[in-house]
Formats: sequence, structure tokens, C-alpha cells
Amino acid sequence: MSIVLDTGRGSKASDGLRIVWLGGLGEIGMNCMLFEYEDEIIVLDCGIHFSDLDHFGVEFVIPDFTYLRERKHKVKAFIATHGHEDHIGALPFALKSGIVAPIYASQFTTMLLKKKLDEYGLRDTAEVRTFRMGDEIKFKHFKIRTESVNHSIVDAAALIIETPVGRVIHTGDFKIDKTPFYGNMIDERAFGRYGDEGVLLLLSDSTNVERDTVSSGDSMIYETFEKLFAQAEGLILVSMFASNVGRMGQVMKLAHQMGKKVALSGRTMEQNAKFGQEIGYLEHAKSVLISIDQIDQYDRDQVIVLSTGSQGEYRSALIRVSNGEHAQVKLQKGDLVVMSSKFIPGNERAIGKMINNLFKQGAEVLYEAVHDIHVSGHATRPELKQMLEWTRPKYFIPIHGEYRHLVHHAKLARECGVAEKNVLVAVNGDIVEMGPSRFEKIDHIDEPRVLIEGREGNDVSKLVLKDRRQLGEKGVVFSLLVRNAESGRIISGPEIIAKGLVHESMEGWLLEEAKTVVKKVVSRYERSFDERGPKIDIQEEIRVELRRFFEANIGKKPVVLPIVLDL
Ligand SMILES: [Zn+2]
Repeated sequence: MSIVLDTGRGSKASDGLRIVWLGGLGEIGMNCMLFEYEDEIIVLDCGIHFSDLDHFGVEFVIPDFTYLRERKHKVKAFIATHGHEDHIGALPFALKSGIVAPIYASQFTTMLLKKKLDEYGLRDTAEVRTFRMGDEIKFKHFKIRTESVNHSIVDAAALIIETPVGRVIHTGDFKIDKTPFYGNMIDERAFGRYGDEGVLLLLSDSTNVERDTVSSGDSMIYETFEKLFAQAEGLILVSMFASNVGRMGQVMKLAHQMGKKVALSGRTMEQNAKFGQEIGYLEHAKSVLISIDQIDQYDRDQVIVLSTGSQGEYRSALIRVSNGEHAQVKLQKGDLVVMSSKFIPGNERAIGKMINNLFKQGAEVLYEAVHDIHVSGHATRPELKQMLEWTRPKYFIPIHGEYRHLVHHAKLARECGVAEKNVLVAVNGDIVEMGPSRFEKIDHIDEPRVLIEGREGNDVSKLVLKDRRQLGEKGVVFSLLVRNAESGRIISGPEIIAKGLVHESMEGWLLEEAKTVVKKVVSRYERSFDERGPKIDIQEEIRVELRRFFEANIGKKPVVLPIVLDL
């Protein structure tokens, strides 16, 4: 586990509101922020960060919960702004580490959360309390009002947090969509009213601060899809994030209008569509949905398949389609694939390969770079400016973004009239304290992140990661010797085995030479004996000599494991 707090750090007596970031600053993902006042802590979001696909077995990264664990008696609630993995994905790990408190979430988020807790066997560990937009959640020191925002998932909330030192607005992930497919545009008047009444601090989503044009609304997607679907000659496959119930609804409405059928591929897709229907979305599902096994019963141009896998994830539905391995969906000339989600940085290589394979199957493939078939769920610069103008905060901290996004967003806030000294760019681990006339970083937790290997939650230490990288890049060599346990004399060996070192054709020669190197060490070892035993550490000598030998002959130092068996 990557650590963390020196004893006593971050535990100075406090007379103000303390905000601590365990994630979400200086990176996209792993959002986790906590508000602490006297004997109370409220945790806002608790997400994961997906690791790059080729990151030596590390699947994702979660916040290091040490700070919370040390104060777990103070934790009164987790509040989820919406159901994306980078906001709720780490909750099971927080609960498992013993930080247990009720979880507050909107309707759709509640459904995703309950399913997640089920999967981890934690359904009874913490109570999930569902809020509606506009609800007030009251604690001893905090009163939190939920405010609906537009985003790429339904039921996303901003939080208006009344604290003992003043009002804080946390936008969560948001955009300003004048034409959302479900629900209304974010409530301009409400945010304006908060601004009129006074906002002490604004925490605002920075993801898209580099984009200058107002982002398109959901209606743009609908019109684009309408045109594309009308022109399609064969089967249509639309890939998207399974959590994007709004996008699903748009496709189903179009299918309904055009007399087509919709089949879902991917378990999460089916599950989320069911959740969506249960809470009143996807009103056309009943009339258009067919099972994926039924698609052969319809003409090709009658079928739209909705699938997951737009990030090129291993074994996902879309990957299987691209490799011709999907049991029900085989592409052919005339088919259309629409990849309607953004490419998450780090996944580009896998996605590129998948797109090539989709083309090889004969289909036409449309994706972000060649066609406007996705709108982002995050506010661009003009919308962020709008949020600053509505709320007119005294203090400003940009959140949710890589470091450069935070810097740009901080500049924007100053342009919008927030005083220079009242804008603060914080990073993960920062502890900020504030009162009505106080606003400062008081401490920092080093690298509050843990690398996770899989669902069991095994963490991967820096040392293990270094070993894996070395094994992956340089290969490994085993040298085996057998020694008489009593006399200490070598009685058999050396045997040398290598993995991932050089081309097989070179290996025989190289390992014979390596044997000679080890034999020389053995004879030095044998000669070093006096009445007290050998004078040299044979294992260490072998390690040093072999690494030197391989560096001279193949230009790299593999991991060398000298094994001496005492019999
Ligand atoms: Zn989100």
C-alpha cells in the first residue's frame, strides 16, 4: 500500500472547515473528496481510476483510505453525485476497509450501487438511501441540497453544501444542455439564486476547460443518428457506455419511429436497460426490444444492436464482433457500426486495432474522429464561465481534471472576477482549511492511491510493480546449484533456465556461456573454503556476474535468480 500520513500529520486541531482530496485532482477519475468539520466527515464520491490497459496487471487505482480509516468514527455519510465508475467504483473498497456509513445516491445511481454491493457481497454492510433532486440531507454540521445537472448519465446531481463557515457548491460532473433527452436543462435560476444569496466556495468540473465551443446538446445526437440510420443498408450496431441510458433511449425512440428492432449485447447493457425502465426511462423499450438470439428472424436492415466495448475492452461484445467471434452478431458489407462514446486516453491503441478489424469485417465504421456521433457530458469553457457567473463565489477550487485543466480553469475563474488570492489549484492529497476569511492549504498526504489487481482488491506495491516491469522488459534467468548441506560443497549444477530473454535461436549458445560464468564462480567459491567454511556469498556472486555477462553480450540486465538447494 502506498503510504501516506506521518504520525500526527493532518491531525492539527482545526477550527475551520477542512476539505481533503483523496482523488480527482490532477487526473481524470478516482474522484473522492471529503468535508470535515469537528466530529463529522462527509465523503463526496468514491471512485476508481482505470489503469492503462498494458499496465502490468494493475486493473485500476483507488484512493488510499488511511486518512478516513484513522477517523472512521467521524464518517457520517458517503454521497454519490452520479453513477459513473470514477465516482462510485471504490465504495466497496472503502466499506471493506472498515469505513462504514450510509450511502446517499439518486435513483439510478442507487440501482447501480446496489448491484455493485451485491457483486462484492456487501449489500448488508451499508444502507443505501435514495435521494430525489431538490432533497435536503441534514447532518449535525452540514446540510446538503441536491440539484439536478445535465451529464452523460441520468440522475446526476450537484451538491449545495451549507457548512458552518458558509455555502459550498460542488458541481459534480456537469454540462449545460439546453435540449437534454431526459429531464430538464440544469436550473439556471436556482444557481443564480444561490449566487445572489452568496457562495463561499465553488468546486467545479474542469474536464473540458480546453474546449472553446459550447458543447452540443443531446438533440444533436438524435438528429445525427436519424440521418445515419435512414441511410444504413444493413444491420446497425451502436456501441456506447452501458451507463448511458439517455443514449439508449434515443436509439430506442428512433427504432420505434423507423419500425426497427433493438437487441442488447452485453450483460451490463441488459442490466442497465432494465434499471432504466424500472425508474421510468426507456419508454419505447417494450415495443422495440428483442433478444439478441432473435436477430436472425428479422431482415438485416430491421435490426439495431446496442453493445458495450467502445474502449476495446478485452472480451467485450464489440471486440468479439470485430474478431468475428460474437455468437449472434456477424458483420458484413452494408452494415454500419457507430461508436458513440469518447475514447478514454490510454485506450487508443486497443480501440484503433478494434476499428481496423471492424472494417476488415466489411462494415462501415463511424467514430469520434471522423463523425460527430458523441457529445461530451462535461461543460466546456463557455459553460464553465456561465457557472462562475451564476454562482459568483468568493473562493474557487477547480476539480476533476488533469493538472493543466485545473490551471486553465483557475485562470478562467480569475477572469470572471474571483480575486487572485482566492483561487487555489490543489492536487490529490491536499488538505485545505477555510473559514469566512481564511482559505489555505494546511497539509498534504503523499500519493494517496492504491493500485488494485482485481475484484478481490489485492493491492500491488511499488516494488511488485517494479519487478513486473523488469520481468516484462528484460526477462528472467534462473541459475540452479545443489549443495551438500553438511560440507557446503557444490555437488551438482549449474543448470540455467531463461524466460523472455533472447530469440530461441540464440538462447542455447548464450546459456552455455552463462554456465561457464557460473562454473567460474563455483570454483572460486570452492577455493575460498577454510576451516570455518566458504568466504564468499555464492548467490550474490552469481547474480552480479550473470548480470554483468548478459549486459556485455545482449545489452540488458535481466532479473537473475540464483538458487542453491541444500541437500
Ligand atoms: Zn461522470
